[in-house]
Parts: sequence; C-alpha cells; structure tokens
Amino acid sequence: MRLVKLIANLGYGSRKQVQQMFREGSITDADGEVLYADDKVEHEAIRVDGEPLDPPAGMILMLHKPAGYTCSTKDQGRLIYDLLPPRFRDRAPVLSTVGRLDRDTSGMLLLTDDGALLHRIISPKSKLSKVYEAELAQDLSGNEVALFASGSLLLESEKTPLLPAELKIHDPRHAQLVLHEGRYHQVRRMFAATGNHVAALHRSRIGGLGLDGLEEGQWRMLTPTDLDTLF
Ligand code: URA
Repeated sequence: MRLVKLIANLGYGSRKQVQQMFREGSITDADGEVLYADDKVEHEAIRVDGEPLDPPAGMILMLHKPAGYTCSTKDQGRLIYDLLPPRFRDRAPVLSTVGRLDRDTSGMLLLTDDGALLHRIISPKSKLSKVYEAELAQDLSGNEVALFASGSLLLESEKTPLLPAELKIHDPRHAQLVLHEGRYHQVRRMFAATGNHVAALHRSRIGGLGLDGLEEGQWRMLTPTDLDTLF
C-alpha cells in the first residue's frame, strides 16, 4: 500500500492532508530522515512528527476512563474519544470499546480495532474476570456475599441467572466485586437487587491486567506482554 493511503487510513488526515505532511517533512524514518510518498519503508520505521506511526489493524489500547465520559462516538456531552488523539475516531477499521463502562463509572476501558480480539475478550465463553470497586449508598448487610456467589441471582427482565461472582467487603460502604461476565449495568443492578444503590463505581482490572499507575484520562497501547497478562 502506498504510504499516503496507509497513513490516511490510520486516521492522520485525508490523502491530501497526508501529502501535505510529506511536503512539510513531518513524516520521517526512525533516524529522522524525511520520507517521500513513494519510499518503501517498514511500518515500524515510520515516524509522524517524531512519534511512531500507530500500528495497523490489531491495535489495542487501555484508557483510564474518568467518571462523566460516555463510551460513544456521538452522544451529547463528554466522550471517551475526546481523551484520545482525534485520528483514533477516524481509523479504518474503527477503534471500538471492548464492552462499555457507564458514564458515571471510572476505570479500565480497552479499545481495539481487532474484531477477533474483541470477541475473545467479551464472549460469554471467555469468563475473563473484571474487578470493580464499589461505594454503596447504604451499609452492606453481609448477605450479599452468599447471594452473589450463589449463581442463582436473577436480575429483573433476565432469563438466565448470573454466574457466581466474588464479593469482598472492605467496610460497610465499600466492596470489591469480581465478575466473570458483562451484562448491562450489571454491578449497579446486582446491588439494586439487594435494595442498595451504587454511589460510585470503578473498574480496576480486566483479567490479569491492572491500571498500574495510569492516571485518569491517560491511555497507552497494550504490548504483546500485556495481552499475555490479560488472558
Ligand atoms: N456494571 C455497571 O453497573 N456499570 C459499569 O459501568 C460496569 C459494570
């Protein structure tokens, strides 16, 4: 694929805009040598304004989502895509969220353009654990631990009971919940089923992967080692 088309497809701009970037010398190799549109270069060697070119299809990144941002490309209000370089919204294939977090939930969100990887993570068969830290509006009774672990809790309007989930109570208003599936508003609905209300919710881990110092609003690409840790 010609370099202009390749770089435009990654969302850096229209073909015209990318041609202009070549003319301005913004596209270089790893040694800072200016590249020309007809050059033949390995993807990994290309730099745009000194930064490595985004990976081709197969990219996965982790975002520390703050509360108040929606997992959507076009809702009103603040969107998670506002926290990422604008080109990520224009990539082909599209970079979509791996499952969703509610607007008021903070924490780990993965995004990928790799359909097979997305399926592997969110498929009901994967049973990948997701760890949530919840703050409750009312004191926990302690009975929630057995109820959530039972594998028989049926949420309103659902036909199949929830898989067993592990609840660890930190104090009467704070608990960690580990899920092995991802149903709509699951954590909030589980606590609502016990007559409680989730005042704040944060996802700290997916599989073996934690946020590890990634600040709210920050993101980073995942490496092959991260993917090994995830599964
Ligand atoms: N469960 C919820 O209720 N909300 C989330 O954002 C994630 C899991």
